[in-house]
Amino acid sequence: MKKGIISLAAACAVFAACGAEKDYTEYVNTLQGTDSNFGLSRGNTYPTAGMPFGVHFWSPQTGKNGDGFKYAYAADAIRAFAQAHQCSPWMSDYAVYSFMPVVGELKVNEDARATRFSHDNEKGRPYLYSVKLDNGIKTELAPTERGVHARFSYPSDGGDAWLVIDGYTDMSSIHIDPEHRRVSGWVNNHRFVNDGKSFRNYFVVEFDRPFEDYGMWENRTDSLMPRQTTGVGPGFGAYIKFKKGTTVQAKAASSYISAEQAAVNLKRELGADRNLDATAARGRKVWNDLLGRIDVEGGTDEELRTFYSCLFRANLFSRKFYEERPDGTPYYYSPYDGKIYDGYMYTDNGFWDTFRSQFPLTNILHPTMQGRYMNALLDAKDQCGWLPSWSAPGETGGMLGNHSISLLADAWVKGVRTFDPERALEAYAHEVMNKGPWGGANGRAGWKEYNTLGYVTYPESMGSTAQTLEYAYDDFCAWQLARLTGNKFYEDVFARQMYNYRNVFDSESGFMRGRGLDGKWQEPFEPFEWGGPYCEGNAWHYNWSVFHDVQGLIDLYGSDEAFIAKADSVFTLPNTVYPGTYGGMIHEMTEMQLAEMGQYAHGNQPIQHLPYLYSYAGQPWKTQYWVRQIMSRLYNSTEKGFPGDEDQGGMSSWYILSALGIYAVCPGTDEYVLGSPVFRKATITLENGNKFVIEAPENSPENVYVADATLNGNTLTKNYITYGDIERGGTLKFTMSPEPAKNRNTGKDAAPFSLSKK
Ligand code: CA
Repeated sequence: MKKGIISLAAACAVFAACGAEKDYTEYVNTLQGTDSNFGLSRGNTYPTAGMPFGVHFWSPQTGKNGDGFKYAYAADAIRAFAQAHQCSPWMSDYAVYSFMPVVGELKVNEDARATRFSHDNEKGRPYLYSVKLDNGIKTELAPTERGVHARFSYPSDGGDAWLVIDGYTDMSSIHIDPEHRRVSGWVNNHRFVNDGKSFRNYFVVEFDRPFEDYGMWENRTDSLMPRQTTGVGPGFGAYIKFKKGTTVQAKAASSYISAEQAAVNLKRELGADRNLDATAARGRKVWNDLLGRIDVEGGTDEELRTFYSCLFRANLFSRKFYEERPDGTPYYYSPYDGKIYDGYMYTDNGFWDTFRSQFPLTNILHPTMQGRYMNALLDAKDQCGWLPSWSAPGETGGMLGNHSISLLADAWVKGVRTFDPERALEAYAHEVMNKGPWGGANGRAGWKEYNTLGYVTYPESMGSTAQTLEYAYDDFCAWQLARLTGNKFYEDVFARQMYNYRNVFDSESGFMRGRGLDGKWQEPFEPFEWGGPYCEGNAWHYNWSVFHDVQGLIDLYGSDEAFIAKADSVFTLPNTVYPGTYGGMIHEMTEMQLAEMGQYAHGNQPIQHLPYLYSYAGQPWKTQYWVRQIMSRLYNSTEKGFPGDEDQGGMSSWYILSALGIYAVCPGTDEYVLGSPVFRKATITLENGNKFVIEAPENSPENVYVADATLNGNTLTKNYITYGDIERGGTLKFTMSPEPAKNRNTGKDAAPFSLSKK
């Protein structure tokens, strides 16, 4: 990782021209986090070429068809350039079809056609991915929301120029129309959609060069069907021959609704562009407008690259899943019931990963979209029968908790009024008093025990303690929404449940522990042991999952001092791992060890808010110290840029908020807890046009401590600001120092929201 003050020459290089508008996209490395594999995640990302929250992304593919590790930085050959929708390799992709240019002899097989490449000849920007393969073919991909403008430049001294279209892993349909230089069809490969058979990703591709030859093929036996123009079958694809040494442009668009709508999408999004450069220029402007909404200055070049690479990743999911009719009205194919509906739909997000950071950031940047989304969430419940918790694109029920209520409550608290709160509370009540057919987070695993005993029991439910803690927080969110909307009935219901975290706290050991039907603590107990009553973590990680009542948690420890001693231990303990019920190392364990911060496991979600909890217990300076350590040691802009799975913007949003000096410990309240910003100045331009400026003029890698802070000129005596403070616009100014201010904002009146504080 290169660190240094940005030079004038470098500064000019990243501007379109000196004096012209800043080009934020030049700071984005879309390969950030791609050096990952099954055993070790540095992000588990792929070089996404896509528009903000776009329906379809594009990516080079080094893995075989169907492999969730679709692009590995360590790989040396590319097999395809694929339409991508993948949230995470652990969920794999869906609705994929791909292109692969081939020169010389026609090779359709994905191993045979794989072509070596070097990262030196590769460039990943949000609006354009390009690579020159070792065989001399250059491929460029400029995405739109529902399509792509691709350009394949074949070497002039090479052999025949071919383009292979691959139908991926399931049924597909192909129609070749040489006269109009068009290939259309659909692919059916899918994950988690209710009606898998009827699921179709209709695509249409138009080329700007005539076909010299063409045919179909299928990828099970790699047999060719020369001159055949129409067919349906497993893994059916097409191949086209172009003039030697030519440059071919392809405009492609997709639709989940119909072939006709795919043509509409093509016309709407790509119709006017005669070449890829025009499409790329439009994409670049869209991203610049968005990235420029958080303008940061006064950091190193590497810090700027990390910030904007993360800001890019924070604005990809949840994906828009709707399309627009010729008159612009939105409608969509529902991944939940396979029917067509009017309105907006969003999908591809595991809320366990994202309620903590990505949605609180999105509420700052995109309140209009959040308004549409919260309604879509309730529509999804009607179509699915359950509130989404992990959609990809239909409901998977993955992970744990019922965190859609966190999104709804957080949106309401922050002023979104597009949805009916009673409808939300009814949907949530259904969710938490039933168990659905999929996963632990579809309905509520262990709900009967939770409602009668006040905790989920172990060993009846794997992850029981993690579930109890997250259910209590979710119930707080429901209570909050009910309270704020005058719904006395649900306010009373959930008021009884939101303190349930206390029922899994063992005061003797000082840990949140597994507890049986008989009320006894699980034995033997080993805090370094993963799994069992915890999910993807151990007792040290789940001890802090009381987002809504940190003071209540402090009270369980008896004093601020005891609480802080426990928190300090997390960072100073050895990074010992006992795999427990996992039976062997999972990548999150390896990532915790590599982070070298003791038991602090920033590579996974449960403990990511811990550094901010010092600000509830009288030592905000430790928050400032640790967030700066985490940002500088565990994040960078390279292919090794994340300390674990990036998770649909989750980890990136932690960085963005923290780099601004704020973090939402408890979504569902309007507070952002203060930390230590990375930059000397950050200007957030809100949707309403207001600007919120965060200044820290003395900031440096040494000056990480806050000596003083003012909001609009008034001394801040609290360790938090509110959403309203941001939305109204204004200036938050930090005075930075190399020494901790150990007597500043240490009282309880400075502490952020806790139920037990009121
Ligand atoms: Ca994770």
